[in-house]
Amino acid sequence: MIKIDRSAEPVPTSLTMAGNVVDNERSAAQSYYTAVPAPSKTYKFKRYKEDDIVEALERLFHGKCAYCESKYIGTQKMDVEHYRPKGKVNESQTHPGYWWLALDWDNLLPSCTDCNRRRGQKIAVLEADGTIVFTDTMENAGKECAFPVSGPYRAWNSQDNLALEVPLLINPCQHDPDDHLCWHISNTKAPILLAKLLGAQPDQKGVSSIEIMGLNRFGLVNERAAVLQQIEVQVKNIYQLIDITAIMPACEARDRCLIKIGQDIDELHACYKPNRQYASMVKSYIEPHMKTLKRYLVGLLP
Ligand SMILES: [Zn+2]
Repeated sequence: MIKIDRSAEPVPTSLTMAGNVVDNERSAAQSYYTAVPAPSKTYKFKRYKEDDIVEALERLFHGKCAYCESKYIGTQKMDVEHYRPKGKVNESQTHPGYWWLALDWDNLLPSCTDCNRRRGQKIAVLEADGTIVFTDTMENAGKECAFPVSGPYRAWNSQDNLALEVPLLINPCQHDPDDHLCWHISNTKAPILLAKLLGAQPDQKGVSSIEIMGLNRFGLVNERAAVLQQIEVQVKNIYQLIDITAIMPACEARDRCLIKIGQDIDELHACYKPNRQYASMVKSYIEPHMKTLKRYLVGLLP
């Protein structure tokens, strides 16, 4: 997960226009939920998936899931995810859901189906001896209508103050995931995400986000591993070229090697741009190498 600056994308027009289908649905939902007696069923929102909303989310998040950074584009349809669930809240049986935020731009995120829809998954677990194993049983994962909060305050209607609520799920537009999560890459075959430690305790926002979105589920860990192993090869190749260049006498071929090393380092750096898949993990793996590689290159320069 990486931090995303939401101000980079204007609010989609369909969410700001008065009197359009989205606005009409917003008004209808307001009447529905403020009726007396209160409705027992959930209002069926449809208009949060308007084309301009989907396109804006795709641009803002580079066609990646907001939570796991998988590129859904080309393989699956994106779920327009409500950070605060619109129809019910798993942790509060009587809560009607944050229906007044169903058509609120700041509450919408793009999600892959596995991060959003609840189903059984095998989950990677870090054992006390440092090995990583997958659970034998299927664990339920996928956000769906989960929205845990810390402390007693929860907003119940549009008059309540959201700023007083302390969500235990990371919203990459509001929180910096690096404050809550870190990578454990002792083995490039199974890179897993951990909650950062706050003293002796793991960060609760990190713990809940990993568990609820299933950020160490079997398929995702394997996809990340495939990307990481490619990067591992790239890094090894640069170190090898540096070793070869170091024992070459000054000549045109050596100069060409130096140029190639510089280009390869630039390419490596590009691997964790925000538009790249699993940029957070790739950055965590590459950054320590980057300093060493640049130092070696400078040492080789005439
Ligand atoms: Zn995802």
